[in-house]
Amino acid sequence: MSSSSSSNRQSNSQRTVGIPTRCWCGANLTTYGAQTKENKFRRFYRCVVALQRKNEQHLFKWIDEAIIDEIDKVDGKCTRLYADLEDVKRSIDKRLDLQDRYIQDLTATLSDFRTSSGVNPNNDMMEASDELRPTNTQSALLNIAGAAIALLTMTWVYSKLSN
Ligand SMILES: [Zn+2]
Repeated sequence: MSSSSSSNRQSNSQRTVGIPTRCWCGANLTTYGAQTKENKFRRFYRCVVALQRKNEQHLFKWIDEAIIDEIDKVDGKCTRLYADLEDVKRSIDKRLDLQDRYIQDLTATLSDFRTSSGVNPNNDMMEASDELRPTNTQSALLNIAGAAIALLTMTWVYSKLSN
């Protein structure tokens, strides 16, 4: 292998990030073992066309370099995904806080209204069951909000992963 062809191959491998699936010519890739003295049995990706037409430009990539490349690529993707998830988590916390405050305001307004309008019946049993209601409504609302947020998050994570 001459030094010019080796530098050519180097630049070729840098143009394709990660593990290649197809050659630039569109052909499927096969793996071969190198026969040169410095890379004896080192495996690389190449298409069949490249073996027949030596003068054309076709993808060449060492398998070991491709795997390291791919790990770096996935690693970068994971880091971005993690940062995005943290963002989603922060915004969900913020929204839940807002909803919590909103529900507290509503509950306070409701009890103010009851006190001022004298709706409060003298019956102790009625009063007890009335007091339970806002809490039930609150937890039901929170459950629905939580389920909706979880669903949205899952959809979002799925769409990110399938990219
Ligand atoms: Zn090719």
